Amino acid sequence: MDKAKRPVVIAGNWKMNKTPAEAKTLIEELKPMVSGKKGCDIVLCVPYVDISVAVESTKGTNIKIGAENVHFAESGAYTGEISSKMLKECGVEYVIIGHSERRQYFAETDETVNLRTKAALAEGLKVILCVGEVKEQRLSGITDEIVSIQTKLDLAGVNADDMKNVIIAYEPVWAIGTGLTATPEQADETCGVIRSTLAKLYGENIAESTVIQYGGSMNAKNAAELLAKKNVDGGLIGGASLKAPDFTVIVEAAQ
Ligand code: PEP
Repeated sequence: MDKAKRPVVIAGNWKMNKTPAEAKTLIEELKPMVSGKKGCDIVLCVPYVDISVAVESTKGTNIKIGAENVHFAESGAYTGEISSKMLKECGVEYVIIGHSERRQYFAETDETVNLRTKAALAEGLKVILCVGEVKEQRLSGITDEIVSIQTKLDLAGVNADDMKNVIIAYEPVWAIGTGLTATPEQADETCGVIRSTLAKLYGENIAESTVIQYGGSMNAKNAAELLAKKNVDGGLIGGASLKAPDFTVIVEAAQ
């Protein structure tokens, strides 16, 4: 499939930033800047406590709201966790799963990432599934194997029909929040490896229609070059999503 036929999705990951009042201010600043920009889907993944204000402030706009994680159980004794059903009822449409910060600091594994993915899909949420290698793995030349095995393990048991609600974010861990960015060629090549893995799992049609984002220090300066690559269908953006003018430039680069 021609890249032009796949949607482009620009998603912000606010991480643990912005109180509800600050979230409202940022969204009010961003709304007029991105309104009428039709070339891509715009998503803001925000902290749980900001969801209600974010959903309310973006009603009737071209901005969709996502969460940054979700638990795999429907309910129960999981203190501090949030279920897919809770997110759905709050108006959340997207959820990031398997972000490297969750894997690194909160002991998430491919097994729990897979459980969360299946639970979110079962509730009708769109999943932004993060995969990516650490620096040592890239230096050892095993990036392709790493992203391929993560993709396989994280999607185990996800059926072909549900793949329309899955976005994969290729996020090299060494590029997240570090100011180091994969070159457009590296991003394209590794997104291509993920696409080939999807082809083996689900066939060419699904592989060619799945949105694969790049994430890792994408910013107003480097976005256009990264987004121009044939296997890069959008971005997952941390730091630069906290500044409305920078995020808008990235949205414009995706037009
Ligand atoms: C992220 O948090 O997913 C991310 C890519 O962060 P940054 O853009 O700050 O590197």
